Amino acid sequence: MKKKSKKEDVKLKFNSSWEYAPAPESKDHVKINSSYDLFINGKFTAPDSGKYFDTINPATETKIAKVADANEKDVDKAVKAARNAYDNVWSKMPAKERGKYIYRIARVMQERARELAVIESMDGGKAIRESRDIDIPLAAAHFFYYAGWADKIDYAVPGSKSRSLGVAGQIIPWNFPLLMAAWKIAPALAAGNTVVLKPAETTPLTALKLAEIIQEADLPPGVVNIITGAGATGAALVNHPGIDKIAFTGSTDVGKIIQKSIAGTGKKYTLELGGKAANIIFEDAAIDQAVEGIVNGIFFNQGHVCCAGSRLFVQESVMDTVVRKLKDRMETLIVGDPLDKNTDIGAINSKEQLGKIKQYLKIGVNEGGEMYQSSCALPSKGFWCRPTLFTNVSQSSRIVTEEIFGPVLGIQSFRTVEEAIEKANNIPYGLSGGVWTDKGSKIFKVTSQLRAGVIWANTYNKFDPTSPFGGYKESGVGREGGLHGLMPYLELV
Ligand code: NAP
Ligand code: MG
Repeated sequence: MKKKSKKEDVKLKFNSSWEYAPAPESKDHVKINSSYDLFINGKFTAPDSGKYFDTINPATETKIAKVADANEKDVDKAVKAARNAYDNVWSKMPAKERGKYIYRIARVMQERARELAVIESMDGGKAIRESRDIDIPLAAAHFFYYAGWADKIDYAVPGSKSRSLGVAGQIIPWNFPLLMAAWKIAPALAAGNTVVLKPAETTPLTALKLAEIIQEADLPPGVVNIITGAGATGAALVNHPGIDKIAFTGSTDVGKIIQKSIAGTGKKYTLELGGKAANIIFEDAAIDQAVEGIVNGIFFNQGHVCCAGSRLFVQESVMDTVVRKLKDRMETLIVGDPLDKNTDIGAINSKEQLGKIKQYLKIGVNEGGEMYQSSCALPSKGFWCRPTLFTNVSQSSRIVTEEIFGPVLGIQSFRTVEEAIEKANNIPYGLSGGVWTDKGSKIFKVTSQLRAGVIWANTYNKFDPTSPFGGYKESGVGREGGLHGLMPYLELV
């Protein structure tokens, strides 16, 4: 037998250090019904049409449960329940009592956090590490934070009095299902409104679990109604005359449809839409830290993040080093079972979304981009995409101008601060961005000139309920989070 050289030995040891034994999160404590009805007026109610659709696990392509498909009549029922609860109960209740209910929801969410995290990962495909450490704790934190505001609304705008709007129609996407529900419901309730919420078609389960939590918290019937369905259900909610305010998070295309359809109706609205964030690495940055931040910014949640740092600008002198270090780091990322605690990148949310991402990979290559993907093995069933980067792309390449919503990074170089700012701003979106540099003065210069709602410096994808979030340009209208997120649910009197 040939003796192994010392070099080979080191290599073997290095590789085996990345092989983790499976560490699956247990599903034993999770209770999922085979079928879910609509949550209207405090009760689970069968849909008018009798129709249901399946929600599947994108990591296994197996059905998890069937879920009711709400039509216009169901939407009408939910809006009427919300109006009745607003007129007769919620708007009349002392603010500090309303606050107690919101605290109770937050506490029950914390108690059931493990169950919620597992269901989020099963229904949407995201790694359990993220749903357990980010989605669910942040969702509970939003309820805690806004519960605190409920009896202090009179102090929110010094010198003015304000009042609630009435019934809010809320529509959310599939990338952070429970967190988006919390972003919507918590400030609306704290400000004294009642709500009808429609989760996304592919990820309805944690919103329905939230309905159970709301029952457990004994919230008066009709204050929160949760109706499942597809785009038509969302459109029926937007167009219902009994709605006072629309809060929408989703694509820019649907946001524009909503804006058109409510024009002239007097309905208030906030729109949290798409993004194509720029991460800018200057030559004086701590490169290893920056690479870690870039990886977190684009590969976190399979790139299904509106503020994903999907465009990377690197100062020319450190381009080769950054690309090499990025490729090395990508090679170590674990793609696979979302319920395994070692997994970095879970499943793509749906077959449709995977199809869209694959289409963009083709476009990138056809446009002359140089594609690099990590070499990891992918499970045989389910929807998966390896972490991917493109070099040799230009300002006009479609993969760097259009939102892909997948783990795909486009890298360009720059020479001067001005060039970096100009290139980063050269896009219809303006949701977020990141700057990596050792110089505080550069951080101030760049962040003040980037046209984006949220900009991180020497970090990325950090969220907090006290901090406002929202877009410039085609990334949206209005803010969520913090005091800013309370204001769209109030009118000054
Ligand atoms: P989407 O297709 O716009 O859907 C969002 C929600 O709207 C879903 O519940 C969808 O229902 C519903 N909907 C579809 N057509 C509708 C219509 N005509 N009227 C009313 N509602 C309608 O977006 P998505 O693909 O689920 O989510 C990804 C997008 O969300 C990305 O563009 C991302 O950037 C954006 N996003 C933005 C933020 C932010 O804070 N700015 C946060 C997260 C995500 P169905 O699921 O049944 O289609
Ligand atoms: Mg699903």
